[in-house]
Amino acid sequence: MQRAVWAILLFALAAPAYAAETAANGSTRCTYATYQWDVARRAPSHGQAVDKPYKEVTADERDPSEPRCSVCREDQVRIEPKTLGWPSVGAFQVCHLYAEDVRAALKTVAREGGFRIVDITGYRVGRTRGAIVDGLRTEWSNHSFGAALDINASHNGLYGSCNVATVSREALAGCKLRVGGAWDPVKRPQTTITKDGGLYRAFRRFWKWGGEIAGGTRDMMHFSVTGY
Ligand SMILES: [Zn+2]
Repeated sequence: MQRAVWAILLFALAAPAYAAETAANGSTRCTYATYQWDVARRAPSHGQAVDKPYKEVTADERDPSEPRCSVCREDQVRIEPKTLGWPSVGAFQVCHLYAEDVRAALKTVAREGGFRIVDITGYRVGRTRGAIVDGLRTEWSNHSFGAALDINASHNGLYGSCNVATVSREALAGCKLRVGGAWDPVKRPQTTITKDGGLYRAFRRFWKWGGEIAGGTRDMMHFSVTGY
């Protein structure tokens, strides 16, 4: 029994980093456009276009919690909400691993009714978090790997200075709105994400909500594997 445990441990330690010759769509190239967030100017900066062989994708260019998702366009799948019951919502992209779950959730929310999706942002490559060097953020957001969605940003803002136990209108009033529009389920019940709503239930089946993460940020528009 113990020998088996050791064998598994040694195998895990010796296993090489994830590598692949081709992207999810079969391409041998990896292309993406990226930027770094300029903290003082509160704007994107240092834009860069990358086009390289897929086999040269580095560990840094892969999602640390799911290396099959990367910053490459070729690992993303285009989702068309208009084919899922949302005729006026624009297309977006997510990592191929999540495409089926996301499609199913959008269909469920459309079928149940009660919630109105205005817009969705998925894959968007950029270094928008982590340590700041020369005024620029240095770490990828989860959107960079297609592993997160923002839904109705103009009604579900990202709040900082917000270490509250549970989100409510009263609790968020003391927080600082940093991105997007104010969260107000009383004024805008159809477009605001809440824990007792159908949209939350549909996405919470496979992802976590940025409204319930630990720490001082409440990202009300955001769903991802970790919620961050
Ligand atoms: Zn987000």
